[in-house]
Amino acid sequence: MATHTFELGKFSIGVGDRFAHQAKAQLQACIEAAHAGVEVIPVWNKSNREHNIIGSEPASTRAAADAAVKALGWTRPYFCDADHINLTTVDRFLAPCDFFTIDVADYIGKAAESSSIERFLKRRSDLAGAIRLEGVSEPIHITRDLLRGVASKFLFAVQEAGKVYRHIETAKGKGGFIPEVSMDETDAAQTPAELLIILAAIADEGIPIQTIAPKFTGRFNKGVDYVGNVDHFRREIVLDVAAIAWATANLGLPKNLKLSVHSGSDKFSIYAAIHDATKKSGVHLKTAGTTWLEEIIGLAEAGGDGLALAKEIYAQAYDHREELCGPYATVIDIDPAKLPAPTTVAQWTSAQFTSALRHDPHSSAYNASLRQLLHVGFKIAAKMGDKYIGLLESNEKVIARNVTENLYDRHIAPVFLGKPSPVAALAHAEAK
Ligand SMILES: [Zn+2]
Repeated sequence: MATHTFELGKFSIGVGDRFAHQAKAQLQACIEAAHAGVEVIPVWNKSNREHNIIGSEPASTRAAADAAVKALGWTRPYFCDADHINLTTVDRFLAPCDFFTIDVADYIGKAAESSSIERFLKRRSDLAGAIRLEGVSEPIHITRDLLRGVASKFLFAVQEAGKVYRHIETAKGKGGFIPEVSMDETDAAQTPAELLIILAAIADEGIPIQTIAPKFTGRFNKGVDYVGNVDHFRREIVLDVAAIAWATANLGLPKNLKLSVHSGSDKFSIYAAIHDATKKSGVHLKTAGTTWLEEIIGLAEAGGDGLALAKEIYAQAYDHREELCGPYATVIDIDPAKLPAPTTVAQWTSAQFTSALRHDPHSSAYNASLRQLLHVGFKIAAKMGDKYIGLLESNEKVIARNVTENLYDRHIAPVFLGKPSPVAALAHAEAK
């Protein structure tokens, strides 16, 4: 029987598997990490939004994960993440999940009762002043105004997180799951000082979080690279990690509390910064459902019916692009002028299709707009039903190879093993 603890290990990766057919191929990437000497705990995440679009239930994610673990003989922990849930969406995740990403973004900026703000300010008045973080030369300065400002902006959200946490705890028992609080799906990034104050509020609320997902500066569009100032990000993540270390030492939060980076996948430019900042503390890297894009790549690579279906999915996604992009408007940047016409794509070879879609920054054929459109286009495949699933099954081998290679080479190796990311190799080539 596989051991199953509710303590998240030092390194973990959140993977999405929209159609619940790639858990084995994803787990294989964690097995390869173990062979390379690093334990990377797999966490299968799927949001309520994804379940609704596909028409699936959280129990199917659990079943696929359990089956993969059994088939490959994985004896280390693994988890199923109820991704970005709140009080109105959590219930159907309670039984099958053991990791809960409590999303409070919608409550940021809503005012808590003034009496609770005053209580917080009184209880945490010692945070005002200069706080020395280990490994950081400059102390961070927290003024009384900042303390009040953060309480006004975030305390209500943290109280809401407390309600969700206690709701889950009632169902699962204390310690029976891994709680995360996420604040990434909001407009403004939290500074390290704000993060520290928010952690104090979370500790006061009694939520034993093991991961915290702030919003970082820069754009984290789905399935494509980071857009922003990499040096700024590097300084920011070092301070965030130090603030978390301070919080675990001083606020009574769990010792294994670590940063959760909701990457949206493929943030190659900042993978080195993430690796350097978190190699001691650990990190949870949440990727998005880009495994679904590897399914399309595998189908296109297979040629024949697979390639034809990949083209059909593109054509339909192109026709329905506004409807598909709507729910993801804040996390995609598609240039409509860069989207090839479906009649053009219809003439493409396997190699033309895969090189446009595959995120290889070296390739001049790589098309970030096409990639993002297909990324949000999984609803098209969901509507195809058995036709899509049947081709997934008959092309399992070629798809699985793409899924495993993508996850291991492009994500696990650079983030957890410190290998050069695909874009680092590009910068190197350009410098020559
Ligand atoms: Zn997120």
